[in-house]
Amino acid sequence: MSDEVEGCVLLCTMFPFSIQQLVKTNTSILIAGPCGVESREQFLTTAQELKGIPQVNALRGGLWKPRTRPNSFEGMGELGIPWMVEAKEQFQLPIITEVAKASHVELCLKNNFDALWIGARTVANPFSVQEIADALKGVNIPIFIKNPMHADLALWMGAIERIQNAGIADIAAIHRGFATGAPTLYRNQPLWEMAIALKTEMPELPIICDPSHIAGRRDLLAQVAQKAADLNMNGWMIESHCNPDAALSDAAQQITPGALQDLINQITIRDTIDVHIQDCPELKKWRKEIDSIDDEIIQLLGQRMKMAETIGAYKKEKNLTIFSLHRWKEILESRQAKGEQAGLTIRFLKTYLEALHAESIRHQVDIMK
Ligand code: PEP
Ligand code: MN
Repeated sequence: MSDEVEGCVLLCTMFPFSIQQLVKTNTSILIAGPCGVESREQFLTTAQELKGIPQVNALRGGLWKPRTRPNSFEGMGELGIPWMVEAKEQFQLPIITEVAKASHVELCLKNNFDALWIGARTVANPFSVQEIADALKGVNIPIFIKNPMHADLALWMGAIERIQNAGIADIAAIHRGFATGAPTLYRNQPLWEMAIALKTEMPELPIICDPSHIAGRRDLLAQVAQKAADLNMNGWMIESHCNPDAALSDAAQQITPGALQDLINQITIRDTIDVHIQDCPELKKWRKEIDSIDDEIIQLLGQRMKMAETIGAYKKEKNLTIFSLHRWKEILESRQAKGEQAGLTIRFLKTYLEALHAESIRHQVDIMK
């Protein structure tokens, strides 16, 4: 194949960058590049190495870095744009950056960026998201929307809806974990159930995972990336830097392009369960068993609430308060101990028992009326 023809094939497959097209062809999306664009040399070197990874379908680089404290590296801003454009032209890879306000969007559109993403801090602010949405009106560019810093599904969906309402059709969400304040191995708690909840509410929306900002450290990236694949997510955004230890932001979580290639090679991509369910008779049988276990649990919960109402009526007759701290502590401790023996986690048991107790109290309050 001549260089010219080969170039055309690459160009035709890479451009225009389309999330929907990648999803339709069952291609995992892999966006890779440094947390921040630091210099021409840093970006071009990283891009050249990433070009050697066939699975990479777009180059990321943060130009405007939202930092928690002032006087940290806040990105090269507009100065870095020509370096990203040069990398795009030289390596024929689409380029994508984070936008936080209308002026960022305008600069990126002017310079033919192939996609944009809205970061976690910006998604938390509807005014900023609306400003970005307004700047995108009448434009055709793929947009990725990260989850907000905190576990607020409505806020995440709200940001997606604002971008949809601006007329953008090619949208994906990025799951980057949540700041919960709880002690965790990760920089941000994954709360995978939030990504599942988003998929349930917006089934057509592709979701990719950002293991870098979830993990916060290199050694945890592979397991987070694998879990995203196991949950049938549509790909990953992973921070990669030609010299991660010298990175000006997020050094602990960035990996070299070589390490990224190893990581991607190790990921097991599984078949989509809903497509293959017909070939799995055992699964159908076991699911029936799960169905009947769930039926029993629901019947039992109904019985438990009836019993709570009987107790509520009794308390009313005797003029007794509904809530007893002593009894609640006893329930928590005894059920947690039994639950742990049954292989359940404390986190699950706590959530379950709190919901159960709140529901019992609701039933008793109704009886007291
Ligand atoms: C980033 O991708 O570099 C970034 C700042 O991410 P987030 O918005 O998820 O913190
Ligand atoms: Mn980062």
